[in-house]
Amino acid sequence: SSAASTLPDIRSDALHVRRRSQLKQVPPLKDLKFGHNFTDHMLTIPWTAKKGWGAPTITEYGPLSLDPSCTVFHYAQCLFEGMKAYRNNEDKITLFRPDMNMKRMNRSAERLALPTFDGDALLDCIKRLILVDKHWIPQEPGHSLYIRPVLIGTQESVGICPPDSALLYVICSPVGPYYPDGFKPVALYGTTEFVRASLGGTGEYKIGANYAPGVHPQKKAADKGYVQNLWLHGPEHHLTEVGTMNLFTVFRKDDGSHELVTPPLDGMILPGVTRDSLLQLARGHQQGKINVAGLAKDVTVSERPVTMKEIIDATNSGRLVEMFGSGTAAVVSPVNRIGYLGQDVHIPVEEDGMGPVSRPLWKELVGRQMGDISDNLGHEQ
Ligand code: PMP
Repeated sequence: SSAASTLPDIRSDALHVRRRSQLKQVPPLKDLKFGHNFTDHMLTIPWTAKKGWGAPTITEYGPLSLDPSCTVFHYAQCLFEGMKAYRNNEDKITLFRPDMNMKRMNRSAERLALPTFDGDALLDCIKRLILVDKHWIPQEPGHSLYIRPVLIGTQESVGICPPDSALLYVICSPVGPYYPDGFKPVALYGTTEFVRASLGGTGEYKIGANYAPGVHPQKKAADKGYVQNLWLHGPEHHLTEVGTMNLFTVFRKDDGSHELVTPPLDGMILPGVTRDSLLQLARGHQQGKINVAGLAKDVTVSERPVTMKEIIDATNSGRLVEMFGSGTAAVVSPVNRIGYLGQDVHIPVEEDGMGPVSRPLWKELVGRQMGDISDNLGHEQ
């Protein structure tokens, strides 16, 4: 409504920084476990239906104080983002396509009837937070600062409605490479017992409610000896995503060239920033606009549905070249096996754990993320 639009948005010029007096000890790199260590400070921005967005504040990292009746604790009014900041040897800090995360966060907020905001203003505040805790960003290759923005509904009442108050906060965690000893291909369990998302549901949003129900299936898959679930959908067992990553498959076509395939954004798939970047790189390369060193010129790129039948037929006829997950945490995660209806489907991997399409794409993407290769990927989706 017009009344709501006159309320204050996030204002980065109102940002207040209250540095803590005693800084923590930055843990040695070898002790970093993904998402377990947090920096000295955090960013918080309150919102109320009456007053809009309040002043952003950077303060000491620490517990939040919330009333037990807060709606987030009952109805999962919670959404989040995940992105990385890199610091190179010249102390230059790079965020990779963070505007994509801001847009996705706003889409999630709208879906949960939580307040939306000016993504550029939030990004400015996040940049300040990163600078305040800059010494926490490891400079070693493959290391980064994982940034976790969160938005929760904090209305103090039992009852489901758009909350009259909310809290946006951002925490940061230094992380090492996902595969410190080189790529380790993973075995997936093609689950027919559970679904991650459904048509008309919330699979395409990064909201907490999509993740809690995935933990039990993940445990079940692990009990069977698989690392992640391959989320299938529908009677034909369409491949959708893997664990918390998007999924790519490479097929060899009749003429010997490769087709890089990922399922279309049909409402069930999270629109990954890594997914979009890999698609842009592969398409740009094919069109001669980008040169991805080492990638064949005739790789075609498709966003189209893939069924388990197509995967099995392709493995049987030797046309399945490789399969991998894509996401911010691991960047690219190769797959070597799928447990499916009591059988194991074997997926080829080359000696270094990768394949002919994932290897050059991974190298190019990591170069751009680290700022070693200038990033000219589009900033709109
Ligand atoms: N799918 C799901 C379900 C995810 O949680 C993520 C991680 N955000 C991804 C895919 C990959 O998205 P991105 O490349 O933006 O990290």
